[in-house]
Amino acid sequence: MTDIVFECPHCGERTVVDEPVRRLLVANGCVVCGEAITREAFRRGTVP
Ligand SMILES: [Zn+2]
Repeated sequence: MTDIVFECPHCGERTVVDEPVRRLLVANGCVVCGEAITREAFRRGTVP
């Protein structure tokens, strides 16, 4: 199973998310710094 990894380009927050959370982040912005999030902040992979 491949995870969706979110890495905030603004504050560096990195976490594994699922699809509903990914949509929430794009809609509402980063939960840590509040900056807008684009699809480029997500990639497929795993966090060690
Ligand atoms: Zn952030």
